[in-house]
Amino acid sequence: MQGLMQDRPLLISSLIEHAATFHPHTEIVSRLPEGQVHRTTWQGICLRSRQVANALRQLGIRQGDRVGTLAWNSYRHLALYYGVSGSGAVLHTVNPRLFPEQIDYIVNHAEDQVLLFDINFAKLVEQLAPSLKSVRAFIALTDRAHMPDIQVPNLLCFDELADAQPTEYAWPEFDERSASSLCYTSGTTGNPKGVMYTHRSTVLHSLMALVPDTFGLSASETLLLIVPMFHANAWGTPYAAAMVGAKLVLPGPYMDGESVYALLRDERVSFSLGVPTVWMMLFQYLDQHPELDPKTLGVRRILIGGAAVPRAMLERFEQTFGAEVMQGWGMTETSPIGVVSKLLPKHAALGGEELVKIKLKQGRGVWGVELKIVDAEGKALPWDGVAFGHLHVRGPWIAAGYFRGEGGEVLDAEGFFPTGDVATIDPDGYLQLVDRAKDVIKSGGEWISSIDVENAAASHPGVAEAAVIGVAHPKWQERPLLLVVRRPGTAVTKFEVLDYLGKRIAKWWLPDEVLFVDTLPHTATGKLLKTKLRESYRDYQLPSARP
Ligand code: ADP
Repeated sequence: MQGLMQDRPLLISSLIEHAATFHPHTEIVSRLPEGQVHRTTWQGICLRSRQVANALRQLGIRQGDRVGTLAWNSYRHLALYYGVSGSGAVLHTVNPRLFPEQIDYIVNHAEDQVLLFDINFAKLVEQLAPSLKSVRAFIALTDRAHMPDIQVPNLLCFDELADAQPTEYAWPEFDERSASSLCYTSGTTGNPKGVMYTHRSTVLHSLMALVPDTFGLSASETLLLIVPMFHANAWGTPYAAAMVGAKLVLPGPYMDGESVYALLRDERVSFSLGVPTVWMMLFQYLDQHPELDPKTLGVRRILIGGAAVPRAMLERFEQTFGAEVMQGWGMTETSPIGVVSKLLPKHAALGGEELVKIKLKQGRGVWGVELKIVDAEGKALPWDGVAFGHLHVRGPWIAAGYFRGEGGEVLDAEGFFPTGDVATIDPDGYLQLVDRAKDVIKSGGEWISSIDVENAAASHPGVAEAAVIGVAHPKWQERPLLLVVRRPGTAVTKFEVLDYLGKRIAKWWLPDEVLFVDTLPHTATGKLLKTKLRESYRDYQLPSARP
């Protein structure tokens, strides 16, 4: 027997209309590429997104067509989130930090019909334009006065185009499983692969982002999105914020410590989110400005994901900001919420090391994401916090495959998505990431977690950043090599680092060598680029391997 409830499709357009109706005056603050701070409201975004939808219609964009963006976090990008997807087209957020060849590949693979770009990327767009065969119009996200002087076919001005459109638009109703947005994974190996979100997956994911034991957002919150809107849809927060009418602060291209600090202070931000590298930049700025007291900012919560949270980062946010640190694990393929770290009532009595240990785990399962860890044969492993295996996930906002069938059939026999990560799960359901399967160091038949060694090293006060990779070894197959960037003004030595690590990790995990470097390579999403490091040190001979 069928139930008798209304069958309304879950569509992204409903989020912006809700925000405009119930939170019309809540502010959306952006720092624009042009430099100034811009203020609008949820109502302003709604009207703009309807104008975007009208403009797309005028440009001949139909349902399902891909519309590309090369843009930082701003109110214009936010209006595109709603205007493009709401009209039934697919918003393809391209990561501008990728190499030009990768952008070329991605835009052609997606067959973007239109490319909208921030003016900082004007030269890049000019360089790429001749090979972007599908793109019929290039639209600069700016006003007439700031139009870039570049030679590309059909160059349009976004503000002018949108201003000329009516603010009325009837959002179409369609199948909630229709494609809404597209995001390519950075593709640390092989070509980038497209993850195609649906309206349904996006709305369900937003709902889960709101519950108290995940991000717990509400109308009283002011969110600073340091995570870019081209990185897994800024972890879904532009949608979730509309659902509850939270205030948004969008930093544009300004993610240096000084700019972030100024936004935290001036906009009274209560909640901010980003990958560990951006917080490191903020800490560096604070190191140079001991007169600043971050406690006065009133930041209550910091969400960190995309890479493991180093202990020193957790403690610094807690102690000097008085903020709660939440960690999330996820990936582009998981929208990205996979697990979120939150304490349980039974942890209330805990303190010291025991508590820190739990806080540093990636997090617990949330409704909608089923987890399993499996061995090499695909057999499920126990949740005892010790056994580690390949992490597979299943749920309504997890990818079922890649755009245009890249990578073939990706799901396992039970319909779970293999994440490429190796993890443990404890009896309380806390997941702890051991490593990416390809980064784990295989030493004498056992596995060493590069993440654990990196985090231990990074907690040394003289270490700014640390990376550990496996280097070929005649006896052990691989042994760890530690690369360290010293904190400016310190002169920490190899022996000090090894001595420090010796008290924190198993003896056989100790790196065979420590090298000091000026910088470490990062991916376009701000993570350590291990493939590059492995390549650079492929022929490196560890002292222990020398004859
Ligand atoms: P890419 O880094 O390839 O651009 P994603 O942003 O989707 O793609 O990265 C997902 C990966 O990032 C995960 O598979 C995992 O290895 C890593 N990751 C994400 N969150 C965490 C976390 N909290 N701790 C450790 N690693 C994480």
